Amino acid sequence: MSQFDVVILGSGGSIPEEGRNHPSICIRWQGWNLMLDAGEDVQRRFERARLGTNKRMAIFITHMHSDHLLGLPGLLLRFSLLGRTRPLSIFGPKELIEYVKIAQSTINLGTTFETTVYGIEGGPVFEVDDVIVSAFEVDHRGFALGYGVVYQKPTGPFLPERAEALEIPKGPFWRDLSSGKTVHLEDGREIAPHEVTGEKPSPLKVVYSGDTRPCESLRQAAADANLLISEAMYTSELVDMADKRGHMTAAAAAEIAVDAGVDLLVLTHYSPRYGDGAAILEEARAVFPNSILARDLLRIGLESDGSHKVDTSAAIEPS
Ligand SMILES: [Zn+2]
Ligand SMILES: [Zn+2]
Repeated sequence: MSQFDVVILGSGGSIPEEGRNHPSICIRWQGWNLMLDAGEDVQRRFERARLGTNKRMAIFITHMHSDHLLGLPGLLLRFSLLGRTRPLSIFGPKELIEYVKIAQSTINLGTTFETTVYGIEGGPVFEVDDVIVSAFEVDHRGFALGYGVVYQKPTGPFLPERAEALEIPKGPFWRDLSSGKTVHLEDGREIAPHEVTGEKPSPLKVVYSGDTRPCESLRQAAADANLLISEAMYTSELVDMADKRGHMTAAAAAEIAVDAGVDLLVLTHYSPRYGDGAAILEEARAVFPNSILARDLLRIGLESDGSHKVDTSAAIEPS
């Protein structure tokens, strides 16, 4: 499996359509599911993508507009019915705490597992092993966040000849150093990992805009991303409407992709008025050729070397 396996669970915006559910993305990484937004009926896409009921998991909500979180109670209910036992952390604007609490106390979610909701404002919010999820404020209507998910290997490749030259005994010391830990030898010396490892590889980075007007914080967060998943609600004829409603055009998303130097732009959350999205894609590609349209159940594999592979075999074409 790829280092990051990014699964689009919902690619719709505002009104869900046949084949285009409300927004949700799941990033699979070493036994984890990191979910960004949880649009209505996400539970069934989650099931179809076979993401696993009892995996280690955290959910990150961009903002309190219902198209981005109506699916959360349904997902929690499904997990309860299927006997999830692992705890679940949910991050998002502070109002999310009340939303989950009320859902749990009024509609009998009967959660079988511990759920913790964190109200966040921005910055690094979640860290596990070598992955950090950071939130950044975007420019929508009311408080809204985008997210960046970054995997950074702690060290470059282990160089045994250097370890031998430094007379570091083989075994646990070598193992600790290659996993990024400083070690204290019995002779009193302290050895840092960089002394026995090569250059660190570039981080892997996936950035999700949430709903936003074009903004500097997104441009900065997306710098050198392998993958930018951006909303692209309208084409440029409707730039005034995009601005009024706190969204962006396909051209604006593509300009951000150019400025940020991303590898691949995935356009999502486009208005139902664009049908299969051809006009959105055409507009973006004129600015940034390496653009594709999000589809429900489209998968993108990111390898450690930063290369990506788009898998459309299960993707649903909107009708
Ligand atoms: Zn939305
Ligand atoms: Zn919104």
